Amino acid sequence: MPRTRAHDADLVILGAGCAGLALAARLAAGDSGLRVIAVDARTDYADDRSWCFWAGPDHELRSIVHREWSTWAYQAESGPAHAHGVDGMTYQYIRGTDFYARCRALIDASPTVELRLGVAAGSLRALDPAEGEGVVVSTTAGDLTARWVVDTRPRRTAALLFQCFSGVEIDHGGALDLAALGIEPGAVGLMTGMRADADGLGFVYVLPLSATTALVEWTRFSPAPLRASVVRAGRDAALASLGAPLGAPHVRVLREEGGVLPMGRVPSGAADATPSIPGVVVAGAAGGALRDASGYGFARIQAWARDCADGLARGEAPVGHPPEPFVRRQMDRIFLQALRAHLDRTADYFAAMARGVAPARLLRFLTDRARLSDLLAIIASLPLLPFLAQLPDRSRALATSSARRPDLVRALPRIRRAPAAAPSAVPSRHPAARPAAPEPTGDALEQVAW
Ligand SMILES: Cc1cc2nc3c(=O)[nH]c(=O)nc-3n(C[C@H](O)[C@H](O)[C@H](O)COP(=O)(O)OP(=O)(O)OC[C@H]3O[C@@H](n4cnc5c(N)ncnc54)[C@H](O)[C@@H]3O)c2cc1C
Repeated sequence: MPRTRAHDADLVILGAGCAGLALAARLAAGDSGLRVIAVDARTDYADDRSWCFWAGPDHELRSIVHREWSTWAYQAESGPAHAHGVDGMTYQYIRGTDFYARCRALIDASPTVELRLGVAAGSLRALDPAEGEGVVVSTTAGDLTARWVVDTRPRRTAALLFQCFSGVEIDHGGALDLAALGIEPGAVGLMTGMRADADGLGFVYVLPLSATTALVEWTRFSPAPLRASVVRAGRDAALASLGAPLGAPHVRVLREEGGVLPMGRVPSGAADATPSIPGVVVAGAAGGALRDASGYGFARIQAWARDCADGLARGEAPVGHPPEPFVRRQMDRIFLQALRAHLDRTADYFAAMARGVAPARLLRFLTDRARLSDLLAIIASLPLLPFLAQLPDRSRALATSSARRPDLVRALPRIRRAPAAAPSAVPSRHPAARPAAPEPTGDALEQVAW
């Protein structure tokens, strides 16, 4: 497609978070010569999240891996812990600030890739044919035209389950009782203190960052997004039970993170609207980057950014996330449907997998590398009948029924819709002083960071 005079850029990236920045940084580091503009509603980057993933010792982001662990534990409340480890693989932790800084340094050094912060994108439309082919993006800083658009803005989605979590990085002075969760020194608590009830599964996720600091998160797998204040209360209770109550003199809050991740997305019309414009690709979590069964997306986003940038460098159009292979998609759906159908037994299911499946097999499943024998081992570890009953695809009906749980479904704060809503550059160090969670607005199914 010839570039017309009307184009401001070859490629405009909407949203420069994990996916948008990863793509922009790759293009900046390469020599495609493409003119790229990435816009983001936020006015600056904060230490708003961290990313963990399993990897071997050598990869491109190695220099910004802040911590890594070779053992990760699963534990149902009051039950034995199951410590997993796999030769050659570690659970690696990257701080948001380091990722953002790395990407921004590459972009700053590029003469053809530009990052524009404080610019919120609005609607998209195809360029008037008289002006050539391409896309027009309306933004708070005026229209932008491009041959292609990669849209990574978060959007609402229906899902089989929602992973609602609230975490806090604390300096606990050595008081955090990891043994209570069965976490041995040097290990990570992946799903510990698991307890399930009719409304979902709750568990504690702990990354011991040093002898005196840790990221502690309370997570709920819920059929509907939960109020941020509800999940924070679970987190605070978990911290108190582990000897590190917030507000105690020996506990200092370093930063917070939290969010709602869809598990088993059921795409809706709204989510699918933009790709119908030629030249527009939806990517990142909004484009299906998160693994249905786990909510992990960081490594998948990096792999997508590499493939997308490589294609662009060859003169091809941008691509979205590759479709999930059939077997994995079905396996994840059946698994999530079974969790949905037996929420009160979910802790038993996860404990059974941790106990009965070899760590290498479970890890291959979690990292998209499962072989048939791994899937069979996972199936064998779980009670057969509840899972067999989920063979028919009921995901759409189940996702719709989430909206009929007014006791659970609550609106989450609307953020990232407009520049005014961009997160603060300075994370609060005083949770008690934070503004109260916004009241419900009836706007329920939305992936957000709180
Ligand atoms: C707190 C947290 C921790 C997570 N931890 C992990 C983890 O450990 N491992 C893992 O694999 N996955 C993790 N995830 C899941 C996933 O990797 C992240 O959600 C990831 O950030 C998704 O990348 P993204 O680019 O799709 O979205 P984001 O990183 O959220 O980026 C979207 C961007 O769009 C911008 N935006 C929004 N609206 C507009 C607009 N109108 N115009 C312009 N820009 C706009 C936002 O400001 C934002 O910068 C985590 C998610 C969260 C929320």
